[in-house]
Amino acid sequence: MSTSPLAWTSDVPLTPATTLHARASATFGDKLAETRALLQQAAIEFTTADGQALITQASSLGAEDVVITHLINDLRLNLPIFVLDTGALHTDTLALLEQTRHTSLAPVAVFQPVQESVVRFVAREGTDAMYRSLALRKECCAIRKLEPLARALEGKQAWITGLRREQSGNRADVPLRDSSEPDSGQAHGRIKFNPLAHWTWGDVWHYIATHGVAYNPLHDRFFPSIGCAPCTRAISLGEDFRAGRWWWEAELDGGTAKECGLHATRTDGDATTTANTPTTPPQTATGARA
Ligand code: SF4
Repeated sequence: MSTSPLAWTSDVPLTPATTLHARASATFGDKLAETRALLQQAAIEFTTADGQALITQASSLGAEDVVITHLINDLRLNLPIFVLDTGALHTDTLALLEQTRHTSLAPVAVFQPVQESVVRFVAREGTDAMYRSLALRKECCAIRKLEPLARALEGKQAWITGLRREQSGNRADVPLRDSSEPDSGQAHGRIKFNPLAHWTWGDVWHYIATHGVAYNPLHDRFFPSIGCAPCTRAISLGEDFRAGRWWWEAELDGGTAKECGLHATRTDGDATTTANTPTTPPQTATGARA
């Protein structure tokens, strides 16, 4: 069992997530129609007369995102996709990224952090800095995620995410079309579309199962929400959907600490200065240090 913060091991037995979770809600058909219509309308609205896409999908390659990518391809939309390769992703996630790049009709771009910034941060703070304080964790996220995200969204007027209302209390009011994003240096705010806002976890897996969509095998090991390897663990029965993300951080600031800043709005802010030193080393659900 590794003690490296960048390694991930698990003894959790393989259980197909499709078997566990694929349960369509009574209104799934209506929700699917709503999602398809929204994606089509968004692609039309944010494509220039000469065919340039001013909209893009942000994909973490999680369950929701592979559904959206599948829909974009199924609908033959002019809608490029991007993935942030933070340099700390699980090997399963990297394998799915390669598969997606080869199978997607829509182009899939990969954005990586500035290597010099990563090297400087790791040299200064070490590889386990994110566990020592919330400020350092946010700094790591800023280097590995937020800066590449800004580049990925450069020139885009809209983006698409897999946020769902059911994911956490912070996301309970996620709208299908969100105009409340910070301006990001634009003359007007960038529009964020959340086409799965109304979907349940069962709906997501019903779509994956019925359409044979490739997904991250970590979902079969009780990782409902997948991010960087050091900051993601499996969850136990009854735990909150996002309990496996930055699990060592207490419910700071009403739980907003459990966001990396990718989905900050004008109202929820982005706590970057509150330190939180864990009293015990971070442990995964199986006891392995992440
Ligand atoms: S999720 Fe963890 S490893 Fe990834 S950028 Fe944030 S702090 Fe760094």
